[in-house]
Amino acid sequence: MTILCLICHEELSQQMSWTSFLLSEPKACDECYQSLRKINSPTCPLCFRPQEDDNVCQDCLTWENDPHWKSILQQNVSVFEYNDSMKELLATFKFRGDAALVEVFQNEFLASYKAHYLQKKLDFGIPIPLSLERLYERGFNQAKLLADYIPLAPSDALSRIHHEKQSKKSRHERLTASNVFSVTDSSKIRNKKILLIDDIYTTGSTLRHASKVLKDNGAASVSSLTLIRS
Ligand SMILES: [Zn+2]
Ligand SMILES: [Zn+2]
Repeated sequence: MTILCLICHEELSQQMSWTSFLLSEPKACDECYQSLRKINSPTCPLCFRPQEDDNVCQDCLTWENDPHWKSILQQNVSVFEYNDSMKELLATFKFRGDAALVEVFQNEFLASYKAHYLQKKLDFGIPIPLSLERLYERGFNQAKLLADYIPLAPSDALSRIHHEKQSKKSRHERLTASNVFSVTDSSKIRNKKILLIDDIYTTGSTLRHASKVLKDNGAASVSSLTLIRS
């Protein structure tokens, strides 16, 4: 039986016994998997940025010192660093429409959820929605694929109003732009503890905008789980 690495498409070289096959089917070769770096402590306690100590980082202090954004996002947890291998992989994942690639991360993503969020008894998991144009372009929402690995009830309470290329804007423009997210039915999220799920935490702006509309509509708390911390 031939199994190909989902990342480089080379044949997996390891000899598999029936036991290892039944326990967990490998999705990527050792070389590809080991080129990805899991985030180790110490990290910023709010955004999971890998750093020298476990103090709140300067970016988070900026967010938290702004009364408009203070405590909007309770905490972010990420799984992998944004190294060169991950950049390459993410580009494939997003732009080549290779939805199967996400399976490589299933076990680690679930393990992070269990380690950081299982005890918190959250109510819903909400993947950051794509705009309809983007969804049509790409064919799948990578955040939704990741959310499917988490044993948390899904919710469709959040929608994305219109397309916006966040990356082309300055920090000030991003912060003052009207919120691209809206809540479809606020009765579903009132007093609920919500976990937002996305592929990458970059500036934290997308997650905070989503979190802001959820909290403005009565959510008790909003945290996030992201595959990558850039
Ligand atoms: Zn490989
Ligand atoms: Zn931080």
